Amino acid sequence: MNQNKTIYPMNFIRQIVNNDLNSGKHKLIRTRFSPEPNGYLHIGHVKSICLNFGIAQDYHGQCNLRFDDTNPAKEEMEYINAIQRDIKWLGFNWNGEVRYTSNYFDKFYNYALELIDKGLAYVDQLSADKIRDYRGTLKSPGKNSPYRDQSVVKNRFLFEKMRKGEFSEGSVCLRAKINMASSLMVLRDPVLYRIKFVNHHQTGDKWCIYPMYDFAHCISDALEGITHSLCTLEFQENRRLYDWILDNITINFRPKQYEFSRLNLEYTVMSKRKLNFLVTAKLVEGWDDPRMLTIAGLRRRGYTAASIREFCRRIGVTKQDQNIKMAMLEACVRDDLNNQAVRIMAVIDPVLLVITSLPIGHEQNILIPNHPYKSEMGTRQVIFSREIYIDRSDFREIADVQYKRLSLGNEVRLRNSFVIKAESIKKNSKGEIITIFCHHDPDTLGKDPVDGRKVRGVIHWVSATHGISAEFRLYEQLFKEANPTSVKNFISALNPNSLNIYHGFVEPGVLQTNLNQPIQFEREGYFYVDDNYHAFKSTRPVFNRTVELRHTSTIKSKL
Ligand code: ATP
Ligand code: MG
Repeated sequence: MNQNKTIYPMNFIRQIVNNDLNSGKHKLIRTRFSPEPNGYLHIGHVKSICLNFGIAQDYHGQCNLRFDDTNPAKEEMEYINAIQRDIKWLGFNWNGEVRYTSNYFDKFYNYALELIDKGLAYVDQLSADKIRDYRGTLKSPGKNSPYRDQSVVKNRFLFEKMRKGEFSEGSVCLRAKINMASSLMVLRDPVLYRIKFVNHHQTGDKWCIYPMYDFAHCISDALEGITHSLCTLEFQENRRLYDWILDNITINFRPKQYEFSRLNLEYTVMSKRKLNFLVTAKLVEGWDDPRMLTIAGLRRRGYTAASIREFCRRIGVTKQDQNIKMAMLEACVRDDLNNQAVRIMAVIDPVLLVITSLPIGHEQNILIPNHPYKSEMGTRQVIFSREIYIDRSDFREIADVQYKRLSLGNEVRLRNSFVIKAESIKKNSKGEIITIFCHHDPDTLGKDPVDGRKVRGVIHWVSATHGISAEFRLYEQLFKEANPTSVKNFISALNPNSLNIYHGFVEPGVLQTNLNQPIQFEREGYFYVDDNYHAFKSTRPVFNRTVELRHTSTIKSKL
């Protein structure tokens, strides 16, 4: 997989862009990605990022990054910084400076005055509840507010009072005068401005009135010369308002909105509000918890940027509802890591194994390739010793015919090493196996047994005298329901076994390899060193399992 560039296929939006360039309607394509800085970006946002930045890249256009910061109560600098970091990490660059919708607050204010002067906006003094009552329903038309026909002079006067902070929050608002009987609810005199006495991370205390998304978005797009304003399907109706506002103000650029379907992924929630709840209720470690499908979480888990972009390439862009299986995301990262991950041995759930046929203190170096089919990745020396660890699940006292690993009286190959046969075991007072005693066949290093007998299984191991103690974090889906939002309380759909921590051992050489690269622990999966290990420089490395080697069922443990 190409690390730097993903080739996206044609889709209906790219077709529109193509046509607009061919017809000469636009010479330069300009898109924008416009997140609300009220949380970290998640995999759903990546679909929009790959679409917007991908189009700019492929059509030699520009993509602006604009923070949609019209709701300061929920916004934070932490999110603004995290969003920029995540977009860059995904491999995209925005055009010029970072922009903020709040850059245009003065302009919005003047456009609001223009609508007032044209008799197309009014200050409504109905309460929020009344406004809702008057709005009507899908089946019945709305009712005009008694303030709807106030004079322009009065509206200007009241709007100015709003701006000066002379009204309380929620007592008045500015509304567009469109049509209370419209079949489209968004056109029933939508609110354009509301009062909020909150400090804004960009504009401080300058404003106590803030524009609504619908008013701010279309004007920002026009001011920035956005040719194709791409958003998700729930804004389809809002397009009518988008166009109405631009039709009625004096602005010399006309952007156009197009909608595509949201990405939904099984076993996860996408809304920032819900993700924020998980973080603040401490149900996860933070926004970058490796179980969260945030970009930060995926990165910490060991997903590569290329694999996430590849996922977006595979899912495509249409108007159809999109409910994607986790297996698809996992397949993308597996394909990418298979190519580049160095192979190393680690024992996650260790049990001691002693090879009694070797002399006490025996040690030898074994040369092991770092990748099975990429010789350019080199080899390494691994110390094999008389005492090793193997994984508990690789031994059974009594095995059935299907069991290909080690069992009493039977043989198995130690990966890259000898064939051994289990002779006896020692248990503790609880009946748990604490040591397995074996003999080895000295004539099987790098070759099959000379008498032609077949050894079916291969298991991995780590030297008990040289192995380094390590923590392994194995993850399952965060939710046990395929569609957690369909459950009344989505918290009740959390999978109690989503994190399983093991303490085991890893080849000592692992600390000499570049720990910022993905690793395949042979037979166990792809792993990535946890950020906290770097941060705290602890002596015991912590590895997150990115994904298993093969697709198994989504939820494994009994719930
Ligand atoms: P959330 O509910 O997670 O907060 P949002 O749509 O409110 O999502 P924004 O910050 O407004 O989030 O999103 C920025 C852009 O990302 C928007 O254009 C939005 O349509 C897009 N986006 C958000 N979620 C998805 C998704 N699941 N699939 C595709 N695009 C998405
Ligand atoms: Mg939102």
